[in-house]
Amino acid sequence: MAGHHKKMKYQFKTSADLLKLAAKYKMPISEIAINYEIETFKKNRKEIIEKMARNLMIMREAVKKGVNTNKKSFTGMSGGNAKKMYQFYESRKQKLLNKTALVAMSYAMATGEMNAAMGRIVAFPTAGGAGTVPAGILSVAEGLRLSDNKIFAGLFTASAIGMIIAENATLAGAEGGCQAEVGSSAAMAAAGITEMRGGNSAQCLNAAALALKNMLGLTCDPLGGLVEVPCIKRNAVGVITAISASEMAMAGIETFVPFDEIVKAMKNIGNLMAAELKETALGGLAITPTGCKIRKKIGLPPIKSL
Ligand code: SF4
Repeated sequence: MAGHHKKMKYQFKTSADLLKLAAKYKMPISEIAINYEIETFKKNRKEIIEKMARNLMIMREAVKKGVNTNKKSFTGMSGGNAKKMYQFYESRKQKLLNKTALVAMSYAMATGEMNAAMGRIVAFPTAGGAGTVPAGILSVAEGLRLSDNKIFAGLFTASAIGMIIAENATLAGAEGGCQAEVGSSAAMAAAGITEMRGGNSAQCLNAAALALKNMLGLTCDPLGGLVEVPCIKRNAVGVITAISASEMAMAGIETFVPFDEIVKAMKNIGNLMAAELKETALGGLAITPTGCKIRKKIGLPPIKSL
């Protein structure tokens, strides 16, 4: 080792940096993300993978519990829909989407419902958007019969996208609206899924860009300020956005606006968004008559409804 100041080789702040590193070292995005963590946190590869394996275990548990329960949250707003969705997938009813997509929707709601019912989840990247990434990664791994190593690759690629968004914009609904939460998670899932199924680095970034672009402008106006409505079902549609974006990227469709520019746009839109629509529960869905009933039920001060 050359002295104390070993040069950091895998640092990135933007998707342009990330793509350059992937090309320079001839590695997939997931490997750049793993090496980034090794050198940044001064851990070895085994430790980094083990940490992700623990996250994966919690993700799987949440999904498994969520699809098997009708347990409602204390507000009664959520619970039981992941199971309904999974039973629909298993049924002989007519369906338009394939198995992977339907299972993904069920898994996304499972994680959200577990979170609302005080179950254990991984806030990857945040509690509100926590359903999308595991749903996409796990359903695609099942559908394509991929190994846990591929799952790790998907998760590390997703985390690289999340880091870029966090660095250049935000992952918090209170700052950026839901485009920053479920929007970011859809972009992360889109990139992760694309790498898992054999897409190259550029395709991963195209998938992330196509997903995020589609979520721009999304408000955060949850009922009672709780992470239930519309959050949980939004993750189910968010994962479908991720899957569609991945399909487009694999078809060779490219984003017209580069990913880094979309992230800048997201930040700008978040800044322009009214405070009422950024997790304060003072606008939009949160102040509908239904939203106001929930406010009353949980003891929030009354507010004029729409
Ligand atoms: S609506 Fe708000 S609280 Fe719900 S997931 Fe989106 S950002 Fe999070």
